[in-house]
Amino acid sequence: AESVLISQQSHEELCKVLALNKAAAANEQKLVVVSVSPQSRASLAARCKLGVLETAKKLTTFLKSLGVHYVFDTTFSRNFSLLESQREFVRRFHKQAEDKKALPMLASACPGWICYAEKTHGSFIIPYISTTKSPQQVMGSLVKGYFAEQQHLPPDRIYHVTVMPCYDKKLEASRPDFFNQEFQTRDVDCVITTGEVLKLLEQEGVSLPDVDPGPLDTMLGGAAAEELSTHRGGGSGGYLEHIYRHAAQELFGIHVDSIQYKPLKNKDFQEVTLERDGVVLLQFALAYGFRNIQNLVQKLKRGKCPYHYVEVMACPSGCLNGGGQIKLEGESSKEELQQVERLYESPRAEIPEENQAVGELYKHWLGGWGSEKALEVLHTEYHAVERANTALNIKW
Ligand code: SF4
Repeated sequence: AESVLISQQSHEELCKVLALNKAAAANEQKLVVVSVSPQSRASLAARCKLGVLETAKKLTTFLKSLGVHYVFDTTFSRNFSLLESQREFVRRFHKQAEDKKALPMLASACPGWICYAEKTHGSFIIPYISTTKSPQQVMGSLVKGYFAEQQHLPPDRIYHVTVMPCYDKKLEASRPDFFNQEFQTRDVDCVITTGEVLKLLEQEGVSLPDVDPGPLDTMLGGAAAEELSTHRGGGSGGYLEHIYRHAAQELFGIHVDSIQYKPLKNKDFQEVTLERDGVVLLQFALAYGFRNIQNLVQKLKRGKCPYHYVEVMACPSGCLNGGGQIKLEGESSKEELQQVERLYESPRAEIPEENQAVGELYKHWLGGWGSEKALEVLHTEYHAVERANTALNIKW
């Protein structure tokens, strides 16, 4: 069943849905929403030799010319993932004396890592994994929840597509946890990779640089967004940095200006430590790629993991280097990745707490921080799979 769901998620599937939609009676048509990840946008921008804002505007025009109604940016939903992760960490920090598995908290945004953890280490690892949904799945909840309400449509009348840097996001979207039983619809109906967007452009005979830029859509209405934003802390979303700064302030009253990473065995395993008077207050790490993840798991199993939080990502170098990204022609992979990184970091870095639209949604739609609805909409759970590790589409 999993492979059927995955094969349904492709650019060909999106084209089929758009064709059916055009032919359908007005009261049966679906509202088609595409949510683009900032990592995919940076990869497309590098390939097309454009800035990221131009890329976003031209991609919006292109997708709308195919019959898409709204094009959103998952940087918006990432604000919720970061805020919830920050708060979850502080909650777990306070619980560490009575709950031995409250810490370290392990990141949950990478489905490559989650599948590996569930299938290989099952019930041992699960309690450590943050319950906060990834930006893709928060976007799914916002589009099929809040946005559907705004449009006066049931969730199954919206077809929601995401554009992602990796194939494992297709697996994530297919999880039963993200299926709405009442309306028999998934929060994210179809995931296409950055490379598949390029195929779509080629298939339509369109060169993105030649497309006219269109206005960007915003989920909360009002004036169209005229600029993009990003989050500081690297191409995998900046989880470590956001949680570290928040925890330092909230738990110890320490304002962190800049964060010093200390590379350990390699550049994909780095540590950050907060000390006061020689006493370690917080010790965080990022562990990218399979070898570093295995190392981390071994440390945990031996009870020798010194960290309070670990940003775990399956791909070496993280999401900007995901298996679904576009390979640039004629450049070495290192230069290529640096170029994508520069583009990814080029928009203004926003602070999730200061995003007014996010604050509005917490207040008026979710019923406040930490409400029952916020917990239901923004968190998920994991399931031990007692079988051998299956092949994953990630660059181990
Ligand atoms: Fe996907 Fe790789 Fe990012 Fe994990 S690290 S979410 S597998 S691109």
